[in-house]
Amino acid sequence: MNFTETDEQVALRAAVADLGRKYGYAYFTRQARTGGRLTELWQEAGALGFIGVNLPAEYGGGGAGLYELSIVLEELAAAGCGLLMMVVSPAICGTILARFGTPEQKQRWLPKIASGSAIMAFGITEPDAGSNAHKLTTVATRDGDSWVLTGRKIYISGVDEAEAVLIVGRTADSKTGTLRPALFAVPTDAPGFSFQPLEMDVLMPEKQHLLFLDEVRLPADALVGEEGAALLQLFAGLNPERIMASAMAVGSARYALAKAVGYAKERTVWSVPIGAHQGLAHPLAQVKIELELARLMMQKAAVLYDAGDDMAAGEAANMAKYAAAEASIRVVDQAIQSLGGSSMTSEVGLAAMLANVRTTRIAPVSREMILNFVAQHSLGLPKSY
Ligand SMILES: Cc1cc2nc3c(=O)[nH]c(=O)nc-3n(C[C@H](O)[C@H](O)[C@H](O)COP(=O)(O)OP(=O)(O)OC[C@H]3O[C@@H](n4cnc5c(N)ncnc54)[C@H](O)[C@@H]3O)c2cc1C
Repeated sequence: MNFTETDEQVALRAAVADLGRKYGYAYFTRQARTGGRLTELWQEAGALGFIGVNLPAEYGGGGAGLYELSIVLEELAAAGCGLLMMVVSPAICGTILARFGTPEQKQRWLPKIASGSAIMAFGITEPDAGSNAHKLTTVATRDGDSWVLTGRKIYISGVDEAEAVLIVGRTADSKTGTLRPALFAVPTDAPGFSFQPLEMDVLMPEKQHLLFLDEVRLPADALVGEEGAALLQLFAGLNPERIMASAMAVGSARYALAKAVGYAKERTVWSVPIGAHQGLAHPLAQVKIELELARLMMQKAAVLYDAGDDMAAGEAANMAKYAAAEASIRVVDQAIQSLGGSSMTSEVGLAAMLANVRTTRIAPVSREMILNFVAQHSLGLPKSY
């Protein structure tokens, strides 16, 4: 076991932190408040090789692992400008395509995803299925050489910025009629595909959308991976999603904690800086410990994933996402307390950050579904639902 990062990892962290400082939280909030996007940052990160650091070198990626990708997102978020679509495009979609795509699919999508010149969104959540993926009703039927896909998706991030969406649907077994999960790469300009933004009260430049798939006709090779084997393939993508959601939460919490500590060292309303009062110092120390524990679990999950142990990575990724969500909520809340009234100003932006990290308790998988997973799989307790 080694808790020391390699020279390359340390250098990557420093290079990404430099880029993050150039943009920062002021850029992030300004773009979010004015309906702008993070395009310049995304493109610069892509050009520097950060977006596709985990993807195979033969397809334009950096040939490193999810650990390195989580370094990129953590450092950008720690600078206040985390890129939500990194959770989706290189981590979920890039991983699934790299592991299960045909050579043609890899050639078509991976270089663009790696360079950041194309974004691939990911759509699993449905209005009537929510956390229960067994109730998905987006169904693909085979028609000659084509697939015809019909269904609805909700809360799908970044569709307006994406060239395609990796849709989790189901296909009907021709013999039994049983519906089995299947993944489809659906271009956002495909006839029959439309979307509309949802009004959200979280301050993020990336918008969430309702998707309408009305008899979207797709070529046979839009099916990613094998029909029927999609659950395994899906989890190969969802573990990276959970690790990257953890990285985003951990990074945001680092940003908030640094802000709070800086303020607590400077602000003096009695005779000493407010950070000298244990009423403020101890809760800050407590959340620092909780944050480091969450970060450690995130790193463990990434190392297990990169080592190819999908089962152990799955358990660790769920635990990491739980811990990162809870720690980041507590950190940002304590940062708000530390900054007093100024925390509520738009300039400081911590109130908005609380809503963002609060989302991590719900998405991409809710706290309760993780507790269900741990109760059942880690503890062997009966399934309750
Ligand atoms: C900002 C944002 C971005 C998102 N981006 C995407 C995206 O890009 N792609 C995508 O596919 N989805 C996306 N989502 C959707 C997200 O993954 C879902 O919101 C999440 O999975 C929860 O589903 P739901 O909202 O339908 O909640 P529901 O499933 O309706 O659950 C509601 C509540 O009930 C609880 N609950 C449900 N079942 C159980 C049970 N068996 N035991 C105990 N408690 C239970 C849940 O934990 C939750 O607290 C995004 C959501 C948000 C808020």
